[in-house]
Amino acid sequence: MTHVAGRHFLQIPGPSPVPDRVLRAMSAQVIDHRGPEFADLGLKSLKSIKSIFKTAQDVVIFPSSGTGAWEAALVNVLSEGDRVLMYETGHFASLWKKMAEKLGIRPEFIVGDWRAGADADQIEQHLRADTGHEIKAVCVVHNETSTGAVSPIADVRRAIDAAGHPALLMVDTISGLASVDFRFDEWGVDVAVSGSQKGLMLPPGISFNAVSAKALELSKTSGMRRSYWDWQDMVGINTKGYFPYTPATNMLYGLVEAIDMLHEEGLDNVFARHQRHAAATRAAVRAWNLEVLCNRQGHESGVLTAVVMPQGHSADNLRAEALKHYNISLGSGLSKVADKIFRIGHLGDINDLTLIGALSGVELALGKAGVPHATGGVGVAMKYLADTPAPGIAA
Ligand code: PLP
Repeated sequence: MTHVAGRHFLQIPGPSPVPDRVLRAMSAQVIDHRGPEFADLGLKSLKSIKSIFKTAQDVVIFPSSGTGAWEAALVNVLSEGDRVLMYETGHFASLWKKMAEKLGIRPEFIVGDWRAGADADQIEQHLRADTGHEIKAVCVVHNETSTGAVSPIADVRRAIDAAGHPALLMVDTISGLASVDFRFDEWGVDVAVSGSQKGLMLPPGISFNAVSAKALELSKTSGMRRSYWDWQDMVGINTKGYFPYTPATNMLYGLVEAIDMLHEEGLDNVFARHQRHAAATRAAVRAWNLEVLCNRQGHESGVLTAVVMPQGHSADNLRAEALKHYNISLGSGLSKVADKIFRIGHLGDINDLTLIGALSGVELALGKAGVPHATGGVGVAMKYLADTPAPGIAA
């Protein structure tokens, strides 16, 4: 392999770049996970992650990718044959539904056009129609990573309550957590699913379930078979800082450090930084005369922006040119929108100059790939950043 000078721009919507501070924290010797030193790390990790979910209830940590935590969420509270209401926000919502079907759960899918987050009114209508309360859970993807649309979780909660329906609220915030606001307790979420490799700025490898007292109680009697994913095996031993099986020790070192960094910046500043960078990115896309995939105002993601290619032009070719000439990785279109869109990740450990560099890479690649566009998008993004104060930085 030949050396490529300069830093690679990892601008996919997760995994996101890992800050040096986190890498250093992780490069420590492995310790005895049943020894006294570990308990301190375990307790710190569990306390820290609760502050990010904004919950005083339980959070469990699995050594797995987010998909494992998806499965854990379903198998702990549901029984085979249960009906659940899911919303087609995009590729990841569709994958979660497919998983539910494989597990013998019966999802009802509210069809979406992949250009917006979930519509709370539609959820309310479906729940009102379910007069027998057969639907056991409403499952929504908070930040749909395949499209760049955010679902209004507080509105979904209100919809469930307005319908007077007892269904659990289950939320995938794998790519939302620590980048866009998420409030587990305040929004009355029952189970939230997340992963390490997005807003938490860690490598892939650990995943999370935040669990309400109601969901935890239900898991004692729910009918689905499970073993590795069983919350009940976790929560007891977690109170002492230990895990029922070998935890991902070095990921936990990184987790504590990353969460310290998020709090040093201030969570509200972190969220505002993401919104500001997303707005600058959308301004660039529009100045290029290209279309942002998310067309519902207020649902645009702070995590990533998906860009629609002009008819007859390949998003994958554009991404290949971007990587080859400018050493930048952009996100691909997934399943239904493969080759039709590309995604610009602007999450995690990035600042104004990272974003401007990334957008420059896109603009240059549009030229290289012969994609019809207006030049000057980067300048428009720069003007937006110059005119919009950065959160948490004194003028
Ligand atoms: N859900 C969402 C919203 C995601 O973005 C992803 C991964 O990108 C997943 C689920 C699956 O997570 P993992 O790839 O970590 O298993």
